Amino acid sequence: MKYHKTSIASRRKTPWDFKGADENLSASERFIKHTYLDTYTFRHPKIRETEEIEFLNSIEPYKCPMCGNEEFTHWGQTRSGINRYHCNRYKSTFNITTNTLFQDRKISLIKWVDYLIRILGHESFLMASYEGRNSGTTTKYWTAKLFRCLEGYQDGTLLYDRVMIDETYIPLRWSNREIREDGKQYRGLSKNQMCIAVGIDNHGQYYFEYIGQGKPSGKRAMASYGRHVKPGSVLIHDSERSHKPMVKSLELESHSYDSRKLKTLPDDENPMAEIDDVCFLLKHFLHAHSGFKEIELQGYLNLFAFYMNPPNDTLEKVRIIILCNLYLHKTLKYRDYYIRNPR
Ligand SMILES: [Zn+2]
Repeated sequence: MKYHKTSIASRRKTPWDFKGADENLSASERFIKHTYLDTYTFRHPKIRETEEIEFLNSIEPYKCPMCGNEEFTHWGQTRSGINRYHCNRYKSTFNITTNTLFQDRKISLIKWVDYLIRILGHESFLMASYEGRNSGTTTKYWTAKLFRCLEGYQDGTLLYDRVMIDETYIPLRWSNREIREDGKQYRGLSKNQMCIAVGIDNHGQYYFEYIGQGKPSGKRAMASYGRHVKPGSVLIHDSERSHKPMVKSLELESHSYDSRKLKTLPDDENPMAEIDDVCFLLKHFLHAHSGFKEIELQGYLNLFAFYMNPPNDTLEKVRIIILCNLYLHKTLKYRDYYIRNPR
């Protein structure tokens, strides 16, 4: 804690501090110094000076986040002014951030909002790290928290009416690729490609799921699309064999096109152009975050789905994440993250 304070103080230093009062500084020194300090204060507000406490205190807990008990009493406030409660069952206190992703936060929620605006505004993570003056490691940790929050986000997605599906592939990291016996790389849609199922409908809904390496079997395709396409819908797709079991069991009205012929068509005549564009955007997005592990792919896909689906306004998306975090009690502690992801 002591270290934390010193490091903040040292970061607020300027090379002209030894001159004392502002009138001893030249105009240029004053200008740079005040711009720097104003920016710093803006980026590192004191919690008490923001509307954060008012916002946090506007949310009433409905149960104890530790045991689920609905009987608790108001129990004063924390040092920063957040309402505290006392659970009658295990005689312990909690507040609205207990057992949420914001628990133990040393920095203001405002930094989270700032980070989310950048991420959901579709800036690259590296950029978010640089702009927010956080180390890359912190951004990685925050991203892991965000992924944790978005886990299961697509579970309830159900495409209906006019549904378009396609699979798109991205290569595995070099270190995870299988090499042929002669030492060469496998070609084409081999096991060294990660297959992503993509679905869209005419109601502006999107869904993205990682369904394993290589071309999917009918069973694997059915396991994914089967949960996200409403039976009886119209299905627009390429003539991929693995789609057949799904078309049959969901009683879909199938409109399939030969993907080799589609490639020769101009965009305005291509019936699959809409989903081609989505796959292109997805690849662009994943490329901006290259170097992730296979295990992290679904996290990126959930984020991309959250980015693509309604509401369309970035600030509304940010609000949803913040509120979800406070209502759903999911925690990811910094230590747990590093035990599982050593640097
Ligand atoms: Zn309790």
